[in-house]
Amino acid sequence: MTAAAVDIVRTVEELRSRVASWRSEALSVGLIPTMGALHAGHLSLVEAALKKYDRVIATLFVNPRQFDRPEDLAKYPRTEDDDATKLASANAHLLYAPNVDEIYPSGYSTNISVSGVSSGLCGGDRPGHFDGVATVCTKLFLQSGADGAFFGEKDFQQLRVVQQFVRDLNIPILIHPCPTVREDDGLALSSRNKHLSDEMRTRAPVLHQRLRAAAEQLLNGVPVDIVMKESKDFILKSGFDRVDYFELRDAENLELLKQNSLNSRLFVAAWLGKVRLIDNIAVIPSQLSC
Ligand code: AMP
Repeated sequence: MTAAAVDIVRTVEELRSRVASWRSEALSVGLIPTMGALHAGHLSLVEAALKKYDRVIATLFVNPRQFDRPEDLAKYPRTEDDDATKLASANAHLLYAPNVDEIYPSGYSTNISVSGVSSGLCGGDRPGHFDGVATVCTKLFLQSGADGAFFGEKDFQQLRVVQQFVRDLNIPILIHPCPTVREDDGLALSSRNKHLSDEMRTRAPVLHQRLRAAAEQLLNGVPVDIVMKESKDFILKSGFDRVDYFELRDAENLELLKQNSLNSRLFVAAWLGKVRLIDNIAVIPSQLSC
């Protein structure tokens, strides 16, 4: 017997009609934008949403506008049946899985572009990425009319970009940040982890280990430039092929910091073969004990 799957809608019209029927019963609605290939990190967002809202919609859309490399888009895992089963087990109420034409119909010509928090980090080396994220999230928020949306701190810059345009455009939706879900060895869950060979998988937790070690050094007063250099060197010596960045930034405006401060956060992006992994942590003492 196949496991039950969550209800799926594919058009804005169907989505709005579901939401309207919930609204007629005065039910609140939470939204979880995803690109599918769901894992426990995504499902933690469903769990958080169910605690705050009466109805929870997950979205599945592999957004072509946020991929700067066509080969990345082509190899992005597509596992809709499995995702729909996982969402049913997690008690989500609806999956909105539009086709590309539903989101970007012929003649589509609007772009949402956020300055400031979009520059540097993943915005620096992935041109257009955050315009793609901001554009699709704006559409998903307006299409669903949800009361709240849930985003993982795993993609911290994405979370800040979303918070920024929601505030700037007065979009009536609450953004709920959720903590990063990790494997027991500290590796942040990601749909990209399935591209790691067994050998790469043994090296991957180095990113989180080094973030924690760097946070400890900063809290002990080691200068920022020394910590950043040692961290990059350590990651490369641990078998990573490239480090795109290892940086200390302000958690609010994401500006680069030359000195540790009360609201600082460490960010890393590094490659194991063709797999690019990202992670980040807050530089606070409690972070080091979890
Ligand atoms: P994605 O499908 O990768 O676009 O991610 C959809 C949402 O899930 C985003 O808000 C991500 O930040 C969040 N997410 C992805 N991985 C994790 C994780 N390990 N822990 C918590 N949230 C995550």
